[in-house]
Amino acid sequence: GATIGILGGGQLGRMLSVAASRLGFKTCIYEPGGDSPASHVANYHFQKGYDDLDALKQFAQSVGVITYEFENIPTSALDALEAIKPIHPNRTALATSQDRLTEKDFLASLGLKTAPYADVTDAASLEAAIATIGTPAILKTRRMGYDGKGQSRLKSPDDAVKALADMNGAPAILEGFVDFSHEVSVIAARSLDGAVSCYDPGENVHSDGILSTTTVPANLTSAQRTDAVLLAAQILNALDYVGVLGVELFVTPQGLIVNEIAPRVHNSGHWTQNGCTICQFEQHIRAIAGWPLGDGSRHSDVVMENLIGDDVLRIPDIAKTTDAIHLYGKADAKPGRKMGHVNRITGHAS
Ligand code: ATP
Ligand code: MG
Ligand code: MG
Repeated sequence: GATIGILGGGQLGRMLSVAASRLGFKTCIYEPGGDSPASHVANYHFQKGYDDLDALKQFAQSVGVITYEFENIPTSALDALEAIKPIHPNRTALATSQDRLTEKDFLASLGLKTAPYADVTDAASLEAAIATIGTPAILKTRRMGYDGKGQSRLKSPDDAVKALADMNGAPAILEGFVDFSHEVSVIAARSLDGAVSCYDPGENVHSDGILSTTTVPANLTSAQRTDAVLLAAQILNALDYVGVLGVELFVTPQGLIVNEIAPRVHNSGHWTQNGCTICQFEQHIRAIAGWPLGDGSRHSDVVMENLIGDDVLRIPDIAKTTDAIHLYGKADAKPGRKMGHVNRITGHAS
């Protein structure tokens, strides 16, 4: 079979590589770091920077199709790659989700609900944003934020100076605080010929801005479940998307509010590895390779628990249980670092 090129060498790249290998593909990762989770399992590794245009060209020439496991890829790198081989998901999907302002504008253009938001570049625009949106609110960097990093919460307008200082001069958006009852996400896939398949929504609990657990089934009415799946399909179709997409949602009495989208396999979809016949990683490889999507129906109820930092020290005890263990091969368990996850089957899907 052909070789799948993956930009990024983290745990998502690792699990994509494993899934690709199971389908008979080889994988080649592009990752500046040496000892990365994906480098332990991929067949080939370009250990080069995203500013090395020659290396990017060689990488593109050596693979059949290119995908990515993180969204912060410089557009200059995309230019070099795109001229040589197809990239899935496409550039529009990547550019849209790289920037929280572009992303919110896109979602609003589809008629989907988001938190109220405004562009913030300086003290004056922050003051204006607070005047229209009010507090509590969250100031977020437009680019590069993840796991709640690059965010500052404003309880009152008095927090404006500190919040702006927290951005370190980076362009930001102010978001009104959404009074949600809980958070869910939809992991959705679209194939090259436009077929769409969505996994059952999962319910997500965060701790210190980092995903802690995902539980399926989520606490949703059947109408909310339908809404979630339809809006995910609307996003996929609007972007002419190929691959797996994660859509994070807030559940409120006024309906589902879209928090953000991720143009890749998603942490809140890890439960599919043990709750479905075809997991999100295989689904993504199938889509980008031009295969038909697989059966993503859920056969089990699952609780996925992330192992963050020292949580991984519990593995000897967890190994005595029936939980399915997934470790990323990271050496040092720094605080806040995602080391692995476990999937606990809690019942048969009804
Ligand atoms: P991820 O690791 O999911 O990419 P991130 O750094 O992009 O995270 P967000 O998803 O925007 O950050 O926010 C992290 C969490 O903070 C959300 O899951 C939610 O719990 C809370 N949060 C974010 N925005 C809002 C909001 N506007 N109102 C209320 N809570 C919010
Ligand atoms: Mg995010
Ligand atoms: Mg998020």
